Amino acid sequence: MRKKLRIGIMGGTFDPIHYGHLVTAEEALVQFNLDKVVFMPTGNPVRKTHRKVTPAEHRYLMTVIATASNPDFEVSRMEVDRPGPTYTVDTMLALRQELGPDADLYFITGADAVWEILTWKDSEALAGVCSFIAATRPGYDLSRFSRDDAERMRVEFMEVPALAISSTDIRRRVAERRPIRYLLPEAVAAYVRKNGLYASEA
Ligand code: NAP
Repeated sequence: MRKKLRIGIMGGTFDPIHYGHLVTAEEALVQFNLDKVVFMPTGNPVRKTHRKVTPAEHRYLMTVIATASNPDFEVSRMEVDRPGPTYTVDTMLALRQELGPDADLYFITGADAVWEILTWKDSEALAGVCSFIAATRPGYDLSRFSRDDAERMRVEFMEVPALAISSTDIRRRVAERRPIRYLLPEAVAAYVRKNGLYASEA
């Protein structure tokens, strides 16, 4: 009998992608015995009205650069190419349709985003389509997740100390001309410099 594929879908804005994201994906790959992790940069993230998100093409290219050397990582353009606001439910239903029942899907992202997705009005459509891997920083308070909801929606939690690194901090550092070396791959830092990204971040 053919083995069922176990595929991680790593959702994020990746503005910019950093070592915390890469460590999260590698940790999920090993802990959950996944065959591969597909990074899925968001096209037009919902609820990001408080700041201007970097154009999707830049975020997609930085993700490709950061993951290029890892044979277990891929990057998808699905959300970047889909017009309108990006909803996880649309992505996971499209992947389920594309892959059929012969793959187990794990949506990996930060725990706050998982909570938002599960409380979104269309989340019921996701039940049974995929499991969730919610990455947390050390000390993260999990009390907002009820045990029943976590079980029903198949949410697993994974603590990732490297998530002390954050995209917000990196953007602020660039704007303030403080160092970002060792927080993200050097080639991504070079891309940020070359394209003048985050220079005017408030
Ligand atoms: P966010 O709200 O900007 O991030 C929440 C927290 O999670 C931040 O601390 C963030 O750190 C961290 N994080 C984000 N992506 C991560 C990842 N892949 N691995 C580990 N930590 C991560 O989150 P977002 O980027 O907008 O959304 C994350 C994913 O959830 C995206 O795929 C998005 O489309 C989806 N989402 C869907 C809905 C919906 O369908 N209704 C709602 C919200 C989010 P950094 O800032 O350092 O990344």
